[in-house]
Amino acid sequence: MSGFVAEAGVIFERSEPGRQGIEFPEVDVPQSELPAGWRREADFHLPEVSELEMVRHFTRLSQKNFAIDIGFYPLGSCTMKYNPKVNDAIANLPGFQDLHPYQDPATIQGALELMWELQAWLGEIAGLPGVTLQPSAGAHGELTGALIIRAYHEAQGRPRKTILVPDSAHGTNPATAAMVGYDTREIPTNAQGNVDIDKLREMMTEDVAGLMITNPSTLGVFEERIQEVADIVHAGGGLVYMDGANMNAMVGIARPGDMGMDILHYNLHKTMTVPHGGGGPGAGATAVREDLVKFLPVPLVERSEDGTFYLDYDRPHTVGRIRAFYGNFNNMVRAFVYMRVLGKDGLLDMSQTAVLNANYLKERLRGIYHLPLDRTCKHEVIFTSKWLKEKTSHLAHPVRTLDVAKRLLDYGIHAPTVYFPLTVEECMLIEPTETESKRTLDRFVEVMTRIAEEAEEQPELVTEAPHNTPLRRLDEVRAARHPDLRWRPGSEFST
Ligand SMILES: *Cc1c(COP(=O)(O)O)cnc(C)c1O
Repeated sequence: MSGFVAEAGVIFERSEPGRQGIEFPEVDVPQSELPAGWRREADFHLPEVSELEMVRHFTRLSQKNFAIDIGFYPLGSCTMKYNPKVNDAIANLPGFQDLHPYQDPATIQGALELMWELQAWLGEIAGLPGVTLQPSAGAHGELTGALIIRAYHEAQGRPRKTILVPDSAHGTNPATAAMVGYDTREIPTNAQGNVDIDKLREMMTEDVAGLMITNPSTLGVFEERIQEVADIVHAGGGLVYMDGANMNAMVGIARPGDMGMDILHYNLHKTMTVPHGGGGPGAGATAVREDLVKFLPVPLVERSEDGTFYLDYDRPHTVGRIRAFYGNFNNMVRAFVYMRVLGKDGLLDMSQTAVLNANYLKERLRGIYHLPLDRTCKHEVIFTSKWLKEKTSHLAHPVRTLDVAKRLLDYGIHAPTVYFPLTVEECMLIEPTETESKRTLDRFVEVMTRIAEEAEEQPELVTEAPHNTPLRRLDEVRAARHPDLRWRPGSEFST
């Protein structure tokens, strides 16, 4: 970010024949050739660089990226909170790290106990007793839940074909329902951001298998009539799936099971500080009510009467496996450590502070950016900068939310989620999380205020942002439609 420009390029361009970054030990066993049929004749074009070149290259690359360890990251719906390093230290202990999934369960009792306890804690927090740790992500937990909804109806001999989804749901909800073969029907939300109850009543017909609802919704607010919503779906013979990716607002405060939710997934890689972003492995533990436990994926971790732990595959009603082995085990360790360190009171404090921080930003920024929903928010708050676009509509390039987001990067702050949810024009979904200090939140308010001033006084400063990042504004449409992720020798490459 300084004016100094380091040597650029991809690592292949640094390659020089004969350079190497590793010393192999002398061969001390007789050499033998691989059988010819096992060998491939190919030129792999591996880069040949020294250790120092390699370290500089990757360190430089890492500095071009934004990360929670570098600055404030208020990306709504994603819960980019700080991930304590102790989680990694413990997940990397050889006793966890070096396990093999095919080891005899007698030799991995500690790991199984950890999973068993984590299942129990997550069940307790959800108010839903059956938990699988297998899903690799939030959407994968949704898939597991939708398969369970299907299995539930099939077991009763009355398969149904539709899933209802409010328009305030996360986009993965309808996508998941469609993946399992359901038609989806969208329920509108009312002016307060709640599901339109009359519409729900009307739409809850006999072909509806269930409802997938995000709560708190993508508008950052709690579904106020959630119990009534659940009662209507249940009366019609359906199940309620709650997308619990936003549990950061609720842990220890309210239990979804007590509100009539039947199935819920967690994003342990949001709420429970498993690192995420960049497509890394997640953990989407999924919890169900008592009578749905029999449908959970195999294996579940169980404890026998003599106190030993085992992997239970003998479950005739299971929806089957939803991935190889048992889930991303090291991420379970991270979530376990985090929960263990915080304890019951700490987890409650976590959610209360997350909600407090979001409401603090809501109050401090309400006069500058506008609130489409003026209600107490949960862990995130939604603003619109539609007024800014209108005020600058005389310009060739009126100032939009996207410009505000890009300008934030110049101040070392990651952009919030923008243009999502789709139901709010020019929106910004801001999620500060509980790990940020008042000082950081105050600086954010200051920067947001300054950007609003810049937008009026020097609009091109905002509409041409970012200015201080390794790359200026990207053509996002082209990047999404024509991704070109492979470097070939001689291809054009700019830093
Ligand atoms: C993040 C998120 C998801 C999807 O989680 P992935 O782990 O990315 O699959 C689903 N719903 C909501 C509300 C989310 O915020």
